Amino acid sequence: MIAISKPQFGDEELALVREVLESGVVAQGPKVAQFEEEFAALCSTQYAVAASSGTTALHLALLAHGIGPGDEVITSPFTFIASANSVLFTGAMPRFVDIRPDTFNIDPALIEAAITPRTKAIMPVHLYGLMADMTPIMEIAERHGLAVIEDAAQAHGASYHGRKAGSFGTGCFSLYATKNMTSAEGGMVTTNDPQIAEQVKLLRAHGSKVRYYHDILGYNFRLTDLHAAVGLAQLRKLEHFNTIRSQNAEFLNQHLQNVITPQVPAGQTHAWHQYTIRLTHTDRDSAIEKLKAQGVGSAVFYPVPVYRQKVYLDRGYDQSLPVTEEITKQVLSLPIHPALSSADLETIIEAVASL
Ligand SMILES: *Cc1c(COP(=O)(O)O)cnc(C)c1O
Repeated sequence: MIAISKPQFGDEELALVREVLESGVVAQGPKVAQFEEEFAALCSTQYAVAASSGTTALHLALLAHGIGPGDEVITSPFTFIASANSVLFTGAMPRFVDIRPDTFNIDPALIEAAITPRTKAIMPVHLYGLMADMTPIMEIAERHGLAVIEDAAQAHGASYHGRKAGSFGTGCFSLYATKNMTSAEGGMVTTNDPQIAEQVKLLRAHGSKVRYYHDILGYNFRLTDLHAAVGLAQLRKLEHFNTIRSQNAEFLNQHLQNVITPQVPAGQTHAWHQYTIRLTHTDRDSAIEKLKAQGVGSAVFYPVPVYRQKVYLDRGYDQSLPVTEEITKQVLSLPIHPALSSADLETIIEAVASL
């Protein structure tokens, strides 16, 4: 079976992990600091602050921007649940705006109508590794005095008109096992604002600058040096990984038949976390079975709009956004990861042609 994702580790990860174990410093220490420095360079930001996961990175970023009870954050309903849940964790409420069918990302033309006196931030999600349309989003945020928190959990190395994901607003990345680069579990917050960086650091470690003196209510959302060792080795391979992902995507775009293939808007670099087609003429469940019978793994990211999840229905959400409704029924992600062979790509193309 050709897996939908496959993390790749080698001697580089092993050497750095060994170094950490032999040093005896396994919790947050010098490797985390080095990882943060190199991650900031990747994003061309002044600061990167590591966290224990993408979810805690989002939570920390929202808290650092002072978001809490009574506030609203505008975001996409077509995403992994963590994007919206991180807003709930703070006591604020997410407000869902429909997406564009061509990019799967939040539709900037619909954002202003969703702004209320309670709105504090816009949280675009760079879904599948393609950045949201940041020029209009930044303009709207500026006009209304809103923070921008990028959910860049799937967009390591993506760019928009020459600017990296995570460098527009406060960026939040995941380093989970299936992402373009991984530390097994882990996350990162990127920013050019020294006060946000400082606040994230404070919140990440029990609100403490001086050991056992606590200024604010904080958490334990730290990354470990062991995880940072894996992350560092992966970071140094990211460009190579993303190049192969992009070549795989180009090949599939050229050869797949009968399906709507993903396109990249001018001026953007896609990180190709997922390669996601739209099935408009075949039943998706039977397509998944047919692909599986031919040895091709696939996955649906995401089958249910966030506002239809029970956790949101229980909080009074009662929405139906037309593009999101349609897209959740059509999308299917195919393997795109860097471990695919040319034979694997041919198998995928043949299997899709048979749908
Ligand atoms: C993976 C992911 C997250 C959460 O990251 P974790 O590291 O799993 O906590 C948040 N948002 C999106 C869009 C993701 O894909």
